[in-house]
Amino acid sequence: MIDPSKMTDECYLCHSSSKELRPYGANKQLICLGCLKSSPETKAEASRQFAELLGGHDGVSVIDGTGAPRRAEESERKMLEYYGLTTGEK
Ligand SMILES: [Zn+2]
Repeated sequence: MIDPSKMTDECYLCHSSSKELRPYGANKQLICLGCLKSSPETKAEASRQFAELLGGHDGVSVIDGTGAPRRAEESERKMLEYYGLTTGEK
């Protein structure tokens, strides 16, 4: 369990806070997209975290700052597909 008040707004790998961050690192730590796609391990971890956070939404869902899944915006869906982070059947 991660205490949200102890989370920092920086990537847990490169410690950058200027990039777009997602809670898809190990233990849902924030990770930037650059680090996320930097290795098969981080991509696989992100896919696991993403699937776990999905809840029961159909189609593509995203997790925003509140931690609650919601339906992805079109631009977000395209980004997730670009990074190969969508889950489920095609
Ligand atoms: Zn990073």
